[in-house]
Amino acid sequence: MRTFSLRGHVALVTGGSRGIGAAIVKMLGEAGCSVAVNYRERAAEAEALAKAIVTAGGKSVAIAADVSQTEAVAAMVQRASAELGPIDILVNNAGVAIVRGVDDLTEADFDQTILVNLKSAFLCTQAVLPGMRAKKWGRIVNISSGAAYRPLEGWSAYCAGKAGLAMVTRSIALETAGKVRIFGFSPGTIDTDMQVKIRASGMNQISQIPRADLSPVEHAVRGLVYLCDTASDDLIGQDVS
Ligand code: NAP
Repeated sequence: MRTFSLRGHVALVTGGSRGIGAAIVKMLGEAGCSVAVNYRERAAEAEALAKAIVTAGGKSVAIAADVSQTEAVAAMVQRASAELGPIDILVNNAGVAIVRGVDDLTEADFDQTILVNLKSAFLCTQAVLPGMRAKKWGRIVNISSGAAYRPLEGWSAYCAGKAGLAMVTRSIALETAGKVRIFGFSPGTIDTDMQVKIRASGMNQISQIPRADLSPVEHAVRGLVYLCDTASDDLIGQDVS
């Protein structure tokens, strides 16, 4: 069986401090990639992940940035490139889940969900694309969800953001179909802080998925290394679930 090696590549993972993002950071680091670990406020967690990669002989840096803000994204990409080299793998993972019925969901909740779950992916993609085009190789993976394709009670903002992200992925895929590949990746229902919060809200949709248990986060991200490798050269704009 082929082993994937991403040695020589430089990845930026948004929302890499915990949950699915942290598992992606570890997996990319183990595959030999240099990894920039973005976070919003959990500095200690992000720094620890970066330190573990460096201790194992790799290169990594933790970078604070609110990825819904244009200037913060530009500064993050500039710093990651300066410290690790030009970014050729971007994983748009940062996300929030504000799960409330239509009568209780505020305008601010709706705006925050769309900014973090949808607009941030566009901003980060726009910031890294020139470097990827110059290098004539790039991978962008947008962490999507089954919620992109299925209405869920109490999830209107989240479903709207992920559905929008699916179309951003497919539309940009048509523009970058040369050497830069952009994919959606839907990890299932995974045991993270986000799920703890969703269960506490009473709006849990776990009964609607085929497996009644939550998948461990390390299992959920295994397929993503394939999308980041040259092995996926024949795929364009797919949403991989
Ligand atoms: P999580 O445990 O809540 O972690 C969210 C991550 O996003 C954290 O690293 C957080 O940083 C970061 N973040 C949030 N807002 C940010 C912002 N404005 N700027 C930068 N970083 C920000 O969530 P998760 O379950 O790992 O989910 C990760 C992604 O997978 C999300 O896109 C989610 O929609 C998607 N997903 C999750 C599931 C699931 O079952 N868990 C299923 C399908 C898809 P801090 O730690 O610094 O706050």
